[in-house]
Amino acid sequence: MKILVTGGAGFIGSAVVRHIIGEGVDDVVNLDKLTYAANLEALAEVQGNPRYVFVKGDICDASLVRSLLEAHRPGAIMHLAAETHVDRSIDGPSEFIATNIMGTYSLLNAALDYVESLPAGERETFRFHHISTDEVFGTLGAEGAFTELTAYDPRSPYAASKAASDHLVSAWGHTYGLPVVLSNCSNNYGPFQFPEKLIPLMIINALNGTPLPVYGEGENVRDWLHVEEHAEALLLILKRGRPGHTYLVGGNAEMRNIDVVRQICSLIDELAPESPYRPHAELISLVEDRPGHDFRYAVDSSKIREELGWRPRLSFQAGLRRTVTWYLANRSWWEPLFENR
Ligand code: NAD
Repeated sequence: MKILVTGGAGFIGSAVVRHIIGEGVDDVVNLDKLTYAANLEALAEVQGNPRYVFVKGDICDASLVRSLLEAHRPGAIMHLAAETHVDRSIDGPSEFIATNIMGTYSLLNAALDYVESLPAGERETFRFHHISTDEVFGTLGAEGAFTELTAYDPRSPYAASKAASDHLVSAWGHTYGLPVVLSNCSNNYGPFQFPEKLIPLMIINALNGTPLPVYGEGENVRDWLHVEEHAEALLLILKRGRPGHTYLVGGNAEMRNIDVVRQICSLIDELAPESPYRPHAELISLVEDRPGHDFRYAVDSSKIREELGWRPRLSFQAGLRRTVTWYLANRSWWEPLFENR
């Protein structure tokens, strides 16, 4: 199968592309606008592979998307292109509305026209997979977890824009019969994550000996999943998920932000013994909380586990160690990005 991946130069998208090409079965056309968050180095291992094509372009450019669909005739679209940083969405939501909502709308229209032009058998097997976030469900108290039946309650402009795109995708499935599947995942971490997100930012600040800003008291809880495990889950959902269904994907690794940062500090104490800033936990600095900061996210992944047999295998401790080790070994990747961010 040929898969059109949008946002395939981003953090999760590039892991998805590496995974698909690494599996050796399917072809990929990667459509990415190359915003600040994109990184072609994350795709170095697939460049030149005959099963991989990169196209620089905007999902909002309907004529480009239509011509790509015509030229490549994919059997599926995995839609990951998005603006993704919550703090940026608070400071300037307009790009989030343009890409996440209008871009998804434009892509859906192009996909629908394309699917309607396919011969009967191919129409049913086609999939439009929308990759989304658990943040659309809002915030949890100390107990419970999100399920596929949890009502939407987005709080940040980012979450609201992803909720809107989820609803559009779902509507195109119900109303026009586009064969869609949705997935909502918890926080990802791993290699090539842009150094504005919590885990890479804390690693890099610690290595630079600069304060580690933690919102509020650091009590907010997130559920963490390694990006490579998410990529595996996504391909499985695309291939075996039931059309019209949503799958929640979580890491089964709930952690308070302050504990994540403390673990990063002790890993750097151990893995960078030459650092002059040990113990790095002394760099932790509690800062004024983010407006509307959701208290806790937790994901119940029973449906994907029971239907598709997927479960996270990597513990957060092992995944975090692997990630800190990767950032220590790949300074040449993040140093210029961090300076110019
Ligand atoms: P990212 O910010 O790292 O990458 C986004 C990619 O999309 C970039 O390569 C960017 O150039 C591209 N892009 C942005 N606007 C575009 C446009 N108009 N046209 C074409 N390409 C465009 O994001 P990510 O962390 O890899 O997230 C990917 C998807 O997964 C997003 O839809 C996000 O909502 C979702 N998600 C992310 C997480 C997480 O923890 N990072 C968790 C759950 C779901």
